[in-house]
Parts: sequence; structure tokens; C-alpha cells
Amino acid sequence: MPINDTGYEIRFRIFGIPVTVHPFFWLASLILFGGDVVSIRDGHPILNLVGMMAVVFISILVHELGHSAMMAWFRIRSEIVLYAMGGYARSTGGRGFNRGLWDQVLIAFAGPLAQFVLFGVVWLVVRYAPPIPPNSYLSYDAVIFVALYCNFVWPLLNLLPILPLDGGQICQGFTRMIQGQYRGDVTALWISIITGGVLAVLAIQNRIYFGGIFLIYITIQNFQSLDQRSGRW
Ligand SMILES: [Zn+2]
Repeated sequence: MPINDTGYEIRFRIFGIPVTVHPFFWLASLILFGGDVVSIRDGHPILNLVGMMAVVFISILVHELGHSAMMAWFRIRSEIVLYAMGGYARSTGGRGFNRGLWDQVLIAFAGPLAQFVLFGVVWLVVRYAPPIPPNSYLSYDAVIFVALYCNFVWPLLNLLPILPLDGGQICQGFTRMIQGQYRGDVTALWISIITGGVLAVLAIQNRIYFGGIFLIYITIQNFQSLDQRSGRW
């Protein structure tokens, strides 16, 4: 998905990997936390919001760096783009992303894995560092909660076998190994559609409307991909 420049992108390099942060990234995390931040008792609402947005930024950057590090292991150069409520790491050259099947599985798994490692680090720091008393600047409890939540729940959801999530890529790697490229893709799409459809219904029933709409959106996209693919064989 090519994203047009707005002129407000932040660009930098980390470990030699080019990173672009789209302004929608900040807007989306503002929308995510903006409503709840006023109900936090300690700290200043604006500083709490900035703290939580910083945590989301670091968490998603670490996720994408996991993908990029695994790509570098396979001698694939990559760049990272952070956009809306997520991001992606994509190959830009090197040995080329030949969709080798174990490469695909390991590259997809490395993103959630990096977040689980970050979760472990935050958990250990919280467990063994002395408690910080409440203050009027920043609610450490709120920031730590967001750090633990983002790096545990998000990577777990990302591992669901639904394309184009990381779990969908992992699933597609395995179905391609078993059935070959085309049949494997069709099977991975059907698994995505069934899982996405069932979870969309459960989400809507439980009033998780944002998640439900997101699942319906990607399920429709997977149906369209299936349509395009089924003509090939
Ligand atoms: Zn990922």
C-alpha cells in the first residue's frame, strides 16, 4: 500500500534501518487514548497522553524492528513505516524477499516475539524496581499498564491466523509448505475468512465494535483475494 507524503513525516534511521513515521500514527494513538486519559487520577492529562503515545510508538517500533532484524538475518534489506494503528517492515533489496517458506514464517513471528521480549523486560523492571510515588506530572501506573497491555495483548491478537496479520503470514507459510503456492494461498485465505468471520461476530456480540469492523474489513478483503486467485487453477 503506497502512502502519499503529507510533508509531516518524521524520518530517522535506527541500526541503519530507515524509519518513516506517518502523522496518522500520532493521530490514531491520540484517538485510542484521548478519551480515557482524563479519568486517570495522578499525573497531568497531557503528560499522561504523551507518555502513553510514547509507549505505543516504542512498542510498535520494537515489533517492526523484530521483523527487520529477522530479514537482516536472511540478508534482506528493509525499511519501517509506522502508519495509523500499526506499521510494517518491508524489504527494499538485498538477497530479495523470495518468499522462502521458513523465511516467511520466521520473519512474521519475529515481530510478536520482539514485543513479548519487551513485555518481559518491562515486567521485570516493574517487579524489581522500587515503586514510584504518585505525582502531578506523570501517572506511572497508567504508562506501565499501557506498556504491559500493548506488548502482550497486541502481539497475541497479531498471531491469529488471519491474513494480513503476522499469524496469517505464518499460517500461509505452513499451508504453502504442505500444498504448494496456489493451493496453500487458497487454504490460508479460507482459514483467514472463517477465523475472521467467527471473531467478527463474537466481537460485535460483545460490543467490541472497532475490532468487529476491522475484522469485517479484512475478511471482505480476503474474500476478494480468494476470488482473484480461484481463477488461476
Ligand atoms: Zn508484524
